[in-house]
Amino acid sequence: MDLYEHQAQELFAKYGVPVGRMQVVHTAEEARTAAAEIGGRVVVKAQVKTGGRGKAGGVKLAAGPDAAHETAEAILGMDIKGHTVRKLLVTEASEIADEYYAALLLDRANRSFLAMVSRSGGMDIEQVAAEDPAALARLEVDPALGLKLEGAYQLCADAGLPSDVYDEVGEVLIKLWDVFRGEDATLVEINPLARLADGSVRALDGKVTVDDNARFRQPGHAAFVDNAATDPLELRAAEKHLNYVKLDGEVGVIGNGAGLVMSTLDVVAYAGERFGGVKPANFLDIGGGASAEVMANGLDIILGDPAVRSVFVNVFGGITACDAVANGIVQAIDLLTRRGEVIDKPLVVRLDGNNAAEGRRILAEAALDCVRTAETMDGAAALAAELASKGA
Ligand code: GDP
Ligand code: MN
Repeated sequence: MDLYEHQAQELFAKYGVPVGRMQVVHTAEEARTAAAEIGGRVVVKAQVKTGGRGKAGGVKLAAGPDAAHETAEAILGMDIKGHTVRKLLVTEASEIADEYYAALLLDRANRSFLAMVSRSGGMDIEQVAAEDPAALARLEVDPALGLKLEGAYQLCADAGLPSDVYDEVGEVLIKLWDVFRGEDATLVEINPLARLADGSVRALDGKVTVDDNARFRQPGHAAFVDNAATDPLELRAAEKHLNYVKLDGEVGVIGNGAGLVMSTLDVVAYAGERFGGVKPANFLDIGGGASAEVMANGLDIILGDPAVRSVFVNVFGGITACDAVANGIVQAIDLLTRRGEVIDKPLVVRLDGNNAAEGRRILAEAALDCVRTAETMDGAAALAAELASKGA
């Protein structure tokens, strides 16, 4: 889960990473009050889970309470890369002498943790890495040992920071490691880490991603969940404990096993090229024991997506044989029909593996109007894509 900047800053403060005074607000009037309480110049910042807010006009200086009110009015409701601004962070304005970059992340490719520091903060770090790789110092961090002061100083030196900030930045890096480890994060990033006129440093922005697999031992993270920013279908799927991810195409996809579903997405996208660029509408893995209820819940979510125009059910019978899955599909459609739902989108079912012939026989016998079967995965994908392109 990606956190909002204000949540990241809250964690920074908890671990002693220096941050400015700040308040979260939801209205322009609250922004005025917050600015008055903070005093002096403030920065009004859009809280959306995407970067580049500054460039998009979502981060603005305001001279005082009235200016904060005006600025807040302009930023609230703004669309930044598809994210609507519903809340703001009002922070005390800092006099920036210099801007650095500091981050810790899970380096999946190298199966380790990575610490990074740059003297070119405040800008797009991908651009820095591409144009001036020497300006981005990297250090692999041993998970068992953590980041120590020695490593932190090495990073400061490698990044070419002025030597009089090593102590301040080094200390921030150590505390950043505490955040990373203590919160089971996969990314903690400060950009910019500002050096102020008095020589102190302060996090002026924060980006934190926490590992959802650690939720069981991070009860505090539940408070970070923002249902308003979650796709409603994903929310419903999560309530039903379904492994569902919404995508932006037209062919609903259900399969058993994450690997099969992922390759199904590829096959559908490939077949879709022949039918006007039709694409998969979602990822949904119903897992091994595909009971009628799980199938019904899955179909319910997918059919409830207005973008879906056809559904591809792709099952490889293993321990759960195809006849059981076929019965599951028949019962699921019966269940949905009895719940009063009209199934007006075609389902293309491909069964293969254990007891596939029996599964197909069950589907043929049930003679459901909405169900078509296909022998192969490619054939089924092509049929589902064609039906979706016709808007059937
Ligand atoms: P981002 O664009 O989403 O990364 O948002 P940031 O929070 O990083 O803000 C964008 C830029 O605004 C920063 O890189 C800073 O240059 C500037 N900025 C943010 N806070 C302050 C502040 O307190 N004082 C000044 N002078 N500039 C700020
Ligand atoms: Mn930033």
